[in-house]
Amino acid sequence: MAHRIHTLGMSLVLSMLMLGCQPATPEATEQRAEVASVRLSGTAYHSMAWQVSLAALPTDTSREQLQQRLQARLDAANTVLSTYQSDTELMRFNRASVGEWHAVSPMLLHALSRALQVSAQMTSFAQAADAYDVTVSPLVNLWGFGSTGKTTRVPTDADTARAKAQIGWQNVQLESKNERAQRLAPVTIDLSSVGEGAAVDALSSELQSLGVSDFLVSVAGTLKSRGNRADGSPWRVAIERPDGQGGIQQLVVLSDGSLSTSGSYRNYFERNGVRYSHTIDPRTGKPITHNGVSVTVISPVNNDATLADAWATALSVLSPELAIQTANKLGLAAYVVAKTADGFDASHSAAFTPYLPVQKSAQE
Ligand code: FAD
Repeated sequence: MAHRIHTLGMSLVLSMLMLGCQPATPEATEQRAEVASVRLSGTAYHSMAWQVSLAALPTDTSREQLQQRLQARLDAANTVLSTYQSDTELMRFNRASVGEWHAVSPMLLHALSRALQVSAQMTSFAQAADAYDVTVSPLVNLWGFGSTGKTTRVPTDADTARAKAQIGWQNVQLESKNERAQRLAPVTIDLSSVGEGAAVDALSSELQSLGVSDFLVSVAGTLKSRGNRADGSPWRVAIERPDGQGGIQQLVVLSDGSLSTSGSYRNYFERNGVRYSHTIDPRTGKPITHNGVSVTVISPVNNDATLADAWATALSVLSPELAIQTANKLGLAAYVVAKTADGFDASHSAAFTPYLPVQKSAQE
């Protein structure tokens, strides 16, 4: 069953890190500074903003040292996962011989296994099967949303069919125990749909290795929280309202959780009055055409941001109704925003209810 929230004139977009529950006013900024003693930020993958908020610095580590350490971890992730440069581990794997096992690093294994896990779980629901596919890049590139550059040309049906014939997540096999993977056909893996989550998981593990137990980490629209803020209160995050004003669409209480938002309205091009977004339905070979605007997922397992990131993209491919049905069937915490004639309509799965502060306020 879908729980509906009508939000006239607002829609949900990429998650915005907020350390308090106030809108972004100077006053609120001061309050936020109090509850997070340390805030660090930078750029991941040459394209995404990252932020880390800590209740306190780890022992014997300066702010500058921590900043450098976290940035180095993200730069290392880029050399594993990127398809924007030819010398990464992923690109080497994409060029490696087909039908043979190849050793893969823990980071590549982590990202790939989460993506394949989501594809496999979606097969349990006929209408969702094959909607999420980590080998979709020939179609992503054809439609101008990949590393090969932008286009405003709508591909022909023949071009689309040719690219569609080159994909298939079932052609990627993993053996986690032996840290190896193989392609059964010459498919190309692109981890753009899980890159934010992998970066968040990497930053969190770096912080935990330094003994930090209270933090909030975000990379673009994906984030993870642990412990509490400096004043002992739980971390709260806000899902941004996409009106350009930086307002709040929905507050979420997130203690020890990972949350990821995928949206189809930011990365798109228009041709002859039709909007083509970067979310591709591998079954049609074309960008999605339903009225879903964005999907937010809170991680179903072990606070894993990569998994939340994969699910957010996977459910974005489905219509809002089907996304909620799938989330309810699989026990996922999902929040979906759809465009309507007079505004936006938000709904959520049953598992998302505990994260809404609305309920908490009603009890208080
Ligand atoms: P999400 O909603 O999380 O995922 C959407 C993306 O997933 C699409 O853009 C597409 O690539 C893919 N996708 C679409 N449909 C499906 C589907 N059905 N199943 C599975 N996947 C699908 N950008 C730059 O401009 N320059 C860079 O140098 C650069 N380097 C990067 C390096 C890494 C390691 C990563 C992960 C990303 C990098 N990017 C770079 C950004 C990248 O191109 C994407 O824009 C970004 O990852 C999309 O994230 P998102 O949250 O907007 O989309």
